[in-house]
Amino acid sequence: MTEMTRVSTDIDYDKNGKQHGHLSVPNSRDNSGWGTLLMPITVIKNGEGPTLLLSGGNHGDEYEGPVALMKLIRALDPSEIKGKIIVIPGLNYPAFLAGKRLSPIDGKNMNRIFPGKYDGTISEVIAHYVYHYVLPQIDACYDLHSGGYSMFMVPSAMCHYLEDKDLMARHIEALKAFRAPMMLIAEELDVAGMLDTAVEEMGKVFIGTELGGGAILTPESVKVAETGIRNVLKHFGMMEGEPVTPTWRGQTEAKLYEIPDLGYFCQAKADGLYEPFYEIGDWVEEGAPVGQIHFPQSPEHDAMVVAPKKGGRIWCRRAPGMVEKGDAVAVLAIESEK
Ligand SMILES: [Zn+2]
Repeated sequence: MTEMTRVSTDIDYDKNGKQHGHLSVPNSRDNSGWGTLLMPITVIKNGEGPTLLLSGGNHGDEYEGPVALMKLIRALDPSEIKGKIIVIPGLNYPAFLAGKRLSPIDGKNMNRIFPGKYDGTISEVIAHYVYHYVLPQIDACYDLHSGGYSMFMVPSAMCHYLEDKDLMARHIEALKAFRAPMMLIAEELDVAGMLDTAVEEMGKVFIGTELGGGAILTPESVKVAETGIRNVLKHFGMMEGEPVTPTWRGQTEAKLYEIPDLGYFCQAKADGLYEPFYEIGDWVEEGAPVGQIHFPQSPEHDAMVVAPKKGGRIWCRRAPGMVEKGDAVAVLAIESEK
C-alpha cells in the first residue's frame, strides 16, 4: 500500500522535460485558515538513466547549495542530461526563507527528523513526503550543506563510514566525483534522524557537502558547488564532458581526507570569547592548541587553551567569537590513502 501523505504536488515525476512546480504542505495558521506552504521543486528528465536528488536548504542558513541549484535549474536544458534530477533548493523551506538553521514554524532541525511523520509538525510532514515519495525514486542524493551561521568550513564533500563494503566503495567514488578541495570520509557525532542515514539505509548513495559558512556566500565556495554538481552529473553518465577541479585559496587539487574518530572534534570547555590560532585549511601538529577562550567577565583570568587530541588539517572552525561550553570550535581531518 502506498504510504499516505499530506503533501501534494503539481509535478509529474515520470514526465520528460523541465517542470518547475511545488510541494504543497498544509500550513493553517492565525492569518491563513487554509494556508499552504508552497515549496519550490524542479524535475528535469530526459529518457532513461539514473535519478539524482539534489537538495539544499536542509539547514536554512547555508547558501551555496540553494544558489547553485537555482542557477542549475534555470540554465539546464533537458537535452543536456540523460535520466532525471529532482531539485529541491530549500528542503527546510520555512528555515531557508528565514535564513535560520531550524524551522521558525516548529523549531525542528530537518536533518534530525527523518523518516518524518504523516501527522507530525510541518518539518516532519515534509521529511515524511521526501522519505516515502522522493527517496524511493532515486539512485543517489547530494544534499548540499554549508557551515551556516556557526562554522567556517573548507568547501568539502563528505560521506560516512559504512559497514557494507560495496556500498562504501560506491560512496567513495561518488564522493571523489564532486572534486571539492577537501573530500572526507567521516565519523559523525550524531546520525539519528539524518537524511544521510535514511538514504544509506535504503542502500543508496548519499553524499553531503559543507561548502563555506558564516551564513555568507563567497565567489569561490559558490563555484565549488556549481562545479561539483556538474562533475557529479558527469560521474553518473548523465552529462557529457570532463570533470573540472575548482581552485580554492590557491589550492588546485581535490584530495581525500578522513575523520576516523571523535578525537578530531574540539569543543569549548567554557563559555567565553574564542580566539582561533589557525585558519581553515591550515595544518596543526598533534598536541598543539588550535585556539583559546578568554573570559570577558574576568579578564584577569588566564585564557583556556583548546587543544584537539589529534593533529591534522583544520576542516572547519567556529565562526562567531562568543562560544558556550559544548560548542564545536574546530574539527580536524587527516589525509586518506583510500
Ligand atoms: Zn547543514
